[in-house]
Amino acid sequence: MSVDRSPDEVLEEAARRFAPRIALALGFGREGCVLLDMIARASLPIRVFTLDTGLLLPETYALWRRLEERTGIPIEAVRPGQTIEQQAEAEGESLWARQPDRCCELRKLVPLGRALAGLDAWVTAIRREQTRERANAAQVERDERHGLVKVNPLAAWTAADVASYVTRHGVPTNPLHDRGYESIGCLPCTTPVLPGEDPRAGRWRGAPKTECGLHLPTRIANQQETERNAP
Ligand code: SF4
Repeated sequence: MSVDRSPDEVLEEAARRFAPRIALALGFGREGCVLLDMIARASLPIRVFTLDTGLLLPETYALWRRLEERTGIPIEAVRPGQTIEQQAEAEGESLWARQPDRCCELRKLVPLGRALAGLDAWVTAIRREQTRERANAAQVERDERHGLVKVNPLAAWTAADVASYVTRHGVPTNPLHDRGYESIGCLPCTTPVLPGEDPRAGRWRGAPKTECGLHLPTRIANQQETERNAP
């Protein structure tokens, strides 16, 4: 069994091995803000991008600007091929309410594929304790689905580890966390979490969906695709 290393060590080694063909996918959760802070402190040559679905919350857009100012690192926007209006014309209004998997595919998965093309490795902010699908994540693993290396420096961290880092280093995070929004995604698919609920219960509330699909292991992603395409 491999022993987990400190996130700093993992990031430094990944930058040494893969720069300039490595990037952090920033989703503006607490964990992503911590990784950005670590990259900035160590001046690591790791690019940063975010999937701008066009539907992020105003507080998230404000945090984006604040993090750029604080770190001096540009956060590149990766956008879907269609505006919200074009998507409504092609797929019907409010696709997220009727077919959230299709909406995530168009606004997140396809743009992610474009962002990862040409990279040898990507850095993500996932932690094992977040969901069942993330429970077996290694700090460094082969991402068969996208054909590159996936680096998860915080895989072994707990929510308390993240909170402690944020406090210690004064890392800016989304003010919505203090209003009950634990996991924050797009505006139509994010609600506050009620006391006693799972931290991701506020995402796609009322639907069986728990992941946008960015971090699903290949086996589960393939299975979901087969189910979606079934007659
Ligand atoms: S989180 Fe919701 S609005 Fe955002 S891409 Fe997925 S389904 Fe669409």
